[in-house]
Amino acid sequence: MKAGVVTPGMRDSAKVVDMPDPVPEPGEVLVRILEVGIDGTDMEISQGHYGEAPPHQDFLVLGHEALGEVEEAGNSDLQKGGLVVLLVRRPDGCINCRSGQSDMCIEGNYSECGIRGSHGFLRELLVEKPDFLVRVPQNLRQVAVLTEPMSIVTKGITQAMELHRRSANPAQVALVLGAGSIGLLATASLRLQGLSTYALDLVPKTSAKGQLVESIGATYLDGRSLGIAELPRQLGNLDIILEATGNSTVVFQAMSVLGTNGVLCLTGVSAGEKRLQVCADCINMEMVLGNKVVFGTVSSNSGHFERAIRTLAEIEQNWPGWLGQLVTRRLPLVEFNNALQPTTEGIKTV
Ligand SMILES: [Zn+2]
Repeated sequence: MKAGVVTPGMRDSAKVVDMPDPVPEPGEVLVRILEVGIDGTDMEISQGHYGEAPPHQDFLVLGHEALGEVEEAGNSDLQKGGLVVLLVRRPDGCINCRSGQSDMCIEGNYSECGIRGSHGFLRELLVEKPDFLVRVPQNLRQVAVLTEPMSIVTKGITQAMELHRRSANPAQVALVLGAGSIGLLATASLRLQGLSTYALDLVPKTSAKGQLVESIGATYLDGRSLGIAELPRQLGNLDIILEATGNSTVVFQAMSVLGTNGVLCLTGVSAGEKRLQVCADCINMEMVLGNKVVFGTVSSNSGHFERAIRTLAEIEQNWPGWLGQLVTRRLPLVEFNNALQPTTEGIKTV
């Protein structure tokens, strides 16, 4: 079978190789991979910024956003031909991992498929324990490749809403910074929960991103002409902010516009060493006097995946065809190298 691999730490090492077909052992399921989404993490790994091969190997199969079909169910209760998505993080033995919360691992000895220490999903076939497979209904075949990014959004927004419930007034206004796939999925999820939702990016309102935001009753903001500092005056008290640019300057701007009792959820990683001069006293004072919360979120567990699948179904029901428009490029596995090149207007490559 073919697989898309990289040599971790080496720039532009991505290539398609032949690997032996996997053979399931008792208790394992053979999965045929149908689609794999590519994201910024994959691009950064292919540029050599991070990524780690499995022990005693010198290459890493890339890909951590996968939709597959059960080829051989073994003795699991899955059905041959059934659709599944695959969990990314593999637990260590810490108390949170043992409790099904590998996303909140405290020891840090987990592995992540396609990222750190375990092969990913960019291959035709793989074997997996049923514990790491989550069932998907057939009617989500065209959009279920978005389950993994949706699970990240689900975890972040669920926790942000829980934190906001410290305060009796319900969250009403949400701001999403960055309208890539995470930002757009977050916008849809917040709209489903009835919040007045604004999404800001650096492209025109007439762009695909701008149109996708507006078509679900959210408001698109063109950040090229509208500074983040001006937003509270125009939008009112910002109850929930979801940061999805990974730009640390934007993170501090978001902290300074967060509303009273507001919650800021950070989802984007900034791998550099950028320095900023900030008014530390001002930030501390505003955080304390405004009861504000800033928290980061990484990875997701099977509960978030299951909830993400329900949210995808709800989005499909409310705005049919909307999720399908997030996938702007579909390439075969042999063009995997091409898929790792960023596009300016594209949203999600599969
Ligand atoms: Zn752990």
